[in-house]
This record gives sequence, C-alpha cells and structure tokens, in this order.
Amino acid sequence: MSNNMILPGATIGVLGGGQLGRMFVVAARTMGYKTVVLDPDKDSPAGLIADQHICSDYEDAAGLAQMAVLCDAVTTEFENVPADSLRALAKSCFVSPSAEAVEIAQNRGREKNYARQAGLETAPFKTILSADDIAAAAEITGFPAILKLSSLGYDGKGQAIVNSVDEITEKFKEFASVECVLEKMLDLKQEVSVILGRNSDGDVAVFPVAENVHVNGILHTSTVPANVSAEITEQARALAKALADSLNYVGILAVEFFITGDNRLVFNEMAPRPHNSGHYTLDATVTSQYEQQVRSLCGLPVGDARLTSAVVMVNLLGDLWPLDWTKLLAEKGLKLHLYGKEEARPGRKMGHYNVLAESVGQAKEIADNVFKIIS
Ligand code: ADP
Ligand code: MG
Repeated sequence: MSNNMILPGATIGVLGGGQLGRMFVVAARTMGYKTVVLDPDKDSPAGLIADQHICSDYEDAAGLAQMAVLCDAVTTEFENVPADSLRALAKSCFVSPSAEAVEIAQNRGREKNYARQAGLETAPFKTILSADDIAAAAEITGFPAILKLSSLGYDGKGQAIVNSVDEITEKFKEFASVECVLEKMLDLKQEVSVILGRNSDGDVAVFPVAENVHVNGILHTSTVPANVSAEITEQARALAKALADSLNYVGILAVEFFITGDNRLVFNEMAPRPHNSGHYTLDATVTSQYEQQVRSLCGLPVGDARLTSAVVMVNLLGDLWPLDWTKLLAEKGLKLHLYGKEEARPGRKMGHYNVLAESVGQAKEIADNVFKIIS
C-alpha cells in the first residue's frame, strides 16, 4: 500500500462540473472527503453539490491557483481540459490522470497511434492536416469512410460519413479545415467498452465489459454482462489493462472497442475519466467507477470491481422531457439518477436509469418496456 495516501477529511478537486463530476463529488463526499469543483458555469451539476465551486475558466490562472491551494489532489471529468492546466496544478498538488495521458486521449490520431504501438488493432485511418492529405487518406481507408474532427468531438458530433474524395473535401471545409482523421467505416457487429481503475502503485481493477448501443451517435443503453464470448471478454479486459500499464496510467480509463463481423476486437477511442457506459457501476458492482476514481486519485487500494447483478443502463436525454416520473418509479428494480440540469434540450444527457434483475434478459425486457412507456 502506498505510504502517501490521501485520507478521508482531505480535500479533493475535479476540473469540470458536468454529470461525471457530480457523481465523483457524491462518491468523494460519501467517503468523507471535502470537494472542490472548477467549472465556468455557475449552475454546473457538480458545482451545485460540491463544498466549493470555483467559477472560472479552465485556463484562468487565479482559478487554478485557488484550486491548488484548496486541494490535496485534483482529477478531471472531461478530456478536453487544457493539459497545461493539469501541469500547472501538478506543481503544487497531486494530479491524476497525468497531463501526458490526457494529451494522448485528446487527439484521435494520437490515441490510435498510441493504441497501435501498445499492441491494439485500430481501423485503417490517416490524419488530415490540410486538403493536400485527403487523397492519400482515401487510399488508406477506401469508401465508405468517416471523417472525424481530431479533437473536441463527442456523442457523434464533428463526424461525417463520406463516399468520395469530393465529399471529404467538402466536409473538411465544413469542419473549418481543422485537423481531422479519416477512418475506414467498419462492419460493426457490436460495440463494447472496458473501464478500469489504476492507482499509483500500479494496482488495477477492471470493470466487467459493457455492451453499448448508440442511437444517433449518442449512447442509448449499456448491458452487462455483455453478450460476447469469454475470449472476447478476456481479450478486451487484457488490452485495456495493457494500454493503462503502458501509459503508467493513474485514474479511471475507459476504452471503447468495436467488434467486427469477423469477430475482431478493434480499438475505437479512450477517455481519461469515468464514462457514460460505466454508469451501471453505480448500482451493479461492489465499487462504482466514481468511488474508484476517488480511490485511485487518493492512492488508496483499488476497490472490488465485481458485478453484483445483471444490469441495463438507459440514458435519459432531454428529448424525453417532460417525463412521467411515476411510470419510471413504479418499477421496483429501477434506480433513477438525475443530474440536476434545469434545461432539457434534445440530445442533452439529463440522467439515466439502471435496471437490476436476476438475468440480463429480464433486465433488458424491463429496461426496454420502461423506455417505450416514457418515449
Ligand atoms: P464519439 O467521440 O462521438 O463517441 P466515436 O468515434 O466513438 O465518437 O464514434 C461514435 C459512434 O459512431 C461509434 O460508437 C460507432 O457507433 C460509430 N463509428 C465510429 N467510427 C466508426 C467506424 N470506423 N466504423 C463504423 N462505425 C463507427
Ligand atoms: Mg465514442
């Protein structure tokens, strides 16, 4: 065990005040830590419930300085936090994940290259820095292909399916000619993710593999256990761990994989933080991904990641508002989680529910039924 553990009673902070930050704050408070959130939005979901909310930009020197004074350790809840802000904080308090790991995950080309050198397979791709790179990229991917912004894309935003060199050229212009990657469009059978926690002693706990279904580029459901073979399960877990070990990663790492029609496990992307597809751990594993984030940040032993129930997580997007809560709450095995967001916009993640049941089939049936009723 680490001899520089940060123990309950200490103050820990998170950069970013979204729902992931909120659930980190809940876990930290449950364990007796004081919490600080830095987020420019005065009504941020995490800022609303933290002991202290520093309302400043992520690059603001005064805000960062205040955070450094208040906190014994700081983590992040979103990958686009400026790496230099992490570096600045790291001069005076413990920071995880490291600026270097976050920088890799911030850029699609960089993370795919990193994954490849760590032994993972990726879709054929090429980085496009200028229009001059388009023809060579198309040679590598063929068509159809997907053009993606290299950074700042999420929930399928900043992506376009393209079928010709002309279309790439057109979309690249629409994307303001900023750095992109062009990726071969794969024939996907399934999508899965693996989330793990790793502390500074290198101890790792890998959460069960989640099977993810996206609708309009946004995660809709995660189902655990995933309906995949024992080989794929073991391979996905081992590859995620290999990636974390190679990065000497500290914190929560989420890795998204594609499973192709011919059963290959292909790395898609990673996130240096808790992940939407890990919300099921709030109710169905011994330790949640948020408690694990606290544990890994504070140098505590990693908690047990064992599954305690079959579970299906369903995202609640703003499209569903106004929502008849009585229908949801009538279901006895359903656990509701809301993020405290006032305004419900289409596509905005407002909350989620986890359905626990004796079998994954049963959980799925209840989860789908409830979703039909509220849609
Ligand atoms: P985001 O950062 O928005 O999650 P992803 O790269 O994960 O972006 O893409 C979102 C979704 O689009 C994926 O979960 C998958 O369903 C689909 N997708 C992305 N890349 C490919 C690909 N190369 N082939 C087939 N489908 C893809
Ligand atoms: Mg994704």
